[in-house]
Amino acid sequence: MHTVTCSDCGVECEVPFKPSGDRPVYCRDCLPQHRGERGDRTRSDREMHKTTCADCGEECEVPFKPTEGRPVYCRDCLPKHRKPRF
Ligand SMILES: [Zn+2]
Ligand SMILES: [Zn+2]
Repeated sequence: MHTVTCSDCGVECEVPFKPSGDRPVYCRDCLPQHRGERGDRTRSDREMHKTTCADCGEECEVPFKPTEGRPVYCRDCLPKHRKPRF
C-alpha cells in the first residue's frame, strides 16, 4: 500500500497502486465524485495552456497551468524527464 494525500479533502489515505505524480489521487470518499476525470477522452474539455518546452524549445500545449520556475516539457521530451515523486 502507498500512503498518499487526497487531492480533494486532503486526508491521508492508502491506495493499492503507486501514484504516478502528475495524477491526482483521491480517498475512498472523494473518488466517486472524480471518476471519469482520468480518461484521455475527457481531456478535450480541459483548458489548455500554451508553453514552451524546457528541453527542445518547441511550443506546446499542456492541460495544466504551468508553474513559474518549473520546467514544462512537450510530449516528446516528457518521458525523458519524468521522475517518480514517491
Ligand atoms: Zn478525499
Ligand atoms: Zn520538447
